[in-house]
Amino acid sequence: MHGHRGRRAVSRPNCTAPIALDALVQYWFGELAQDDEQRIEEHLLGCSLCSGQLGELADLGAGIGSSFRSGAVGAVVSPTLVHDMKQEGLRLREYRVGPGGSVNCTVGAADDAVVSRLQAHLEGVTRVDLVHSTGSSEVRLPDIPFEPAAGEVLYCPSAARLRKAPAHTAVVRLLAVDEVGEHPIGDYTFIHTPS
Ligand SMILES: [Zn+2]
Repeated sequence: MHGHRGRRAVSRPNCTAPIALDALVQYWFGELAQDDEQRIEEHLLGCSLCSGQLGELADLGAGIGSSFRSGAVGAVVSPTLVHDMKQEGLRLREYRVGPGGSVNCTVGAADDAVVSRLQAHLEGVTRVDLVHSTGSSEVRLPDIPFEPAAGEVLYCPSAARLRKAPAHTAVVRLLAVDEVGEHPIGDYTFIHTPS
């Protein structure tokens, strides 16, 4: 465990051995070996700094319950986290796509993460759901974190999954949800080719 009993940190809690961000990203996507996964899970249970960092990876409320890990097809991340990942020296491949737009994409062996910058009009929107569809599967991430003024959602698909994937087309849809129902904000098409 970290820190000193009975003393409350004013700013950030202390961690003597913070989990590297790339390991945290791999953990989130369920890509680690079992030993590493267990080690990280134990650390997270006792460390509010690292579990807070993991919380930035995606919407805690949606993805994290009894288990920290999502094993999801992707995660919505904050601009701060993308900034931190770059600061840490992670190699990010970024794609900017407008609503209704499409992009030819790939992932290289040297890429640590792929960030899709989904351009969207979010003013006045209170809740956004993201639906990731391929020919064979559909995954919905409910109530994703977003800033109405940002004009974009940062979606980070699992780079390890993408690396194994054959050529395929994936459609990511953003939906605005309110009491009366839902309506599409935009569809974003990713035409994936292995590198
Ligand atoms: Zn820690």
